[in-house]
Order: sequence, then structure tokens, then C-alpha cells
Amino acid sequence: MARCLIACGSNQGRPRQHLGDARDLLRSMPGVTLVAASRARETRPVGGPPDQAPFMNGAFLVETDLLPIDMLGVLTAIENTLHRERSERWGPRTIDLDLLLYDDLVIDEPGLTVPHPRMTTRRFVLEPAAEIAPDLVHPVAGCTIRDLLENISKADPHVAVVGAPGSGAADVAAAVAGSWLDTTLLDARQLLTGEPCVRPNVLILVVAASAVLAQRLACDAGRARNDAVVATAVAEAPANTTCSVSEAVALQGALRHHLLGIPLAAHWRPRAVVVVEADTLEQAIGEAVAAVEAMA
Ligand code: ADP
Ligand code: MG
Repeated sequence: MARCLIACGSNQGRPRQHLGDARDLLRSMPGVTLVAASRARETRPVGGPPDQAPFMNGAFLVETDLLPIDMLGVLTAIENTLHRERSERWGPRTIDLDLLLYDDLVIDEPGLTVPHPRMTTRRFVLEPAAEIAPDLVHPVAGCTIRDLLENISKADPHVAVVGAPGSGAADVAAAVAGSWLDTTLLDARQLLTGEPCVRPNVLILVVAASAVLAQRLACDAGRARNDAVVATAVAEAPANTTCSVSEAVALQGALRHHLLGIPLAAHWRPRAVVVVEADTLEQAIGEAVAAVEAMA
């Protein structure tokens, strides 16, 4: 038997009713036992188109014999039964069901990523989840749901943005920081050591295709250098060194592996790591800002 944590959201039609329907459908599915359901709570929309209706959010804990991909199939079937339409990303929906955790499995396949990649900064996910499963461990963060909620609830959480030179991380950092232009500069390679001197609560890793890295390095190497810093916002380049495309690709791979691989007991890593991987800088900024806004 595997334990699965599931997030549920709705902001179209009758949201509270849809959450109840989703719970009842989950309960009726063969091979699935509903263990706990959180209460539904109203939240403001994050990301997506402007002027969306408020959401109702909740969480479910189930036990199942189904494989992860089949559990996702059950969630999709319930979404279809409740007339989920898939048009705009993060747009209005009658129901959204996300598989947050499946035991301590780490899955990264084209149609299924577990733990859910955006859960660590989403208050609308962590609050209902903490109500029913506070002690469940997130296998990549290496801490519990309660710890993840506490991590984004600090009075003054430190959000850092990092990426390889050419990733666009400096521009993403500036957009995330908005008006409070506090700067902490640190070479990204520092993060690869076990004991970095900056320890953010939340880290946004900006990843770009190697062709994009190459183009940005060729066009404006000085600006691209700014990307290799961990910063709440970026004021100046940390070091006057050059970086080749292959070095940038290697650094990007090392950062991803270090921040999202199997956690090593000896190595410190932020509790919340969100990877932003977008085709354009504008999309990357949208994803990063949504990840930070979801903490409030
Ligand atoms: P979001 O859940 O971020 O609001 P969507 O519901 O529109 O976005 O995204 C749904 C897509 O995400 C599905 O096509 C599904 O294949 C994919 N997906 C990947 N991993 C998961 C997961 N753990 N839970 C739910 N959907 C997932
Ligand atoms: Mg979903």
C-alpha cells in the first residue's frame, strides 16, 4: 500500500461543491482508500490570467495499490467527470487535482513529476496538506510538510534566484525583488559546496536550453555573468571572469543535480527549490513571480 497526498483546487461553477464531489469520486474509486480530507478554504488566485475568481483549495490523503501513473490516471478521470476544460495554463477550472507525494518516490517523466514541482512554495497547497498530513516527508526537500509550511511562513523569508551565465537569472531576480532592491551577491558555484555562506529559505533555479545560453553569452557576456549569482536582486557582476557555453551548461547541470538530487546528509540545501524552465525570459519571470506570490 502506498500513501498519496493530493491537492485539489477549483474556481469555476460551484467550487465548494466540486471539492466535495472530487472527494466522493476519490472514495468510490477501486484500489483507492480515502484516509483523510482537509477542510476547503478560499484562496486568492496566483499566476494565470488577471481577474480570476477566488479558488477553493483542499487536500486528500489516500492509500492505494495503484502505480503512480495509474493514480494520476484516476485524478485525470475525476477531473474529466467534473468537466475540467484544458485551455489556458493556470486559467479558471472546475477542478484541478495534483499528485503531490507518492510515498517517498521521486519521479521525473514527461507526463508525471513527483513530488509536484511547485508545491514547496504554495501556501494554498501546504496549508490544507499540513492539516491532514503534517509529518509526511517530502523526499527531495528532506523535511516534513509542516517544515515546508514553516519555511515559507518566516517573517522575512529570503528568496534567492540563481542560474548559469546566460540563463536570465539576473533579470528574473530583479523582477522577483520588485521594489525592495536588497542585494546579496554570491557566485553560484558556492552553492555547490556543502556550506554556502548564504542560506536562502527559497531558491529559484532558472534553467535555459543550451542554445539560449549560447545566444545570450554571445550577445552580452557582461550581462550574462550577472546570472551566476544568488541574489534577491542584482546590482553588479560578482566577478570579472569569462564563461564558455560548455562551462555554463555544466554549471546548470551541476546546480540542478545538487539542488534536486538525492539529498546528502552532509550538504545543506534550501527547503524550497523551484526550477523555472521556460522558452522566453518573460515566461520565466511569470513562473518565478507566481512561485513567490504563492508563499503569501
Ligand atoms: P497545475 O497543476 O500546475 O495547475 P495543470 O493542472 O494545468 O497545471 O497541469 C496538468 C499537467 O501536469 C497534466 O498534463 C499532467 O500530466 C502534468 N503533471 C505532471 N506531474 C503531475 C502531478 N504530480 N500531478 C498532476 N499533474 C501532473
Ligand atoms: Mg493539475
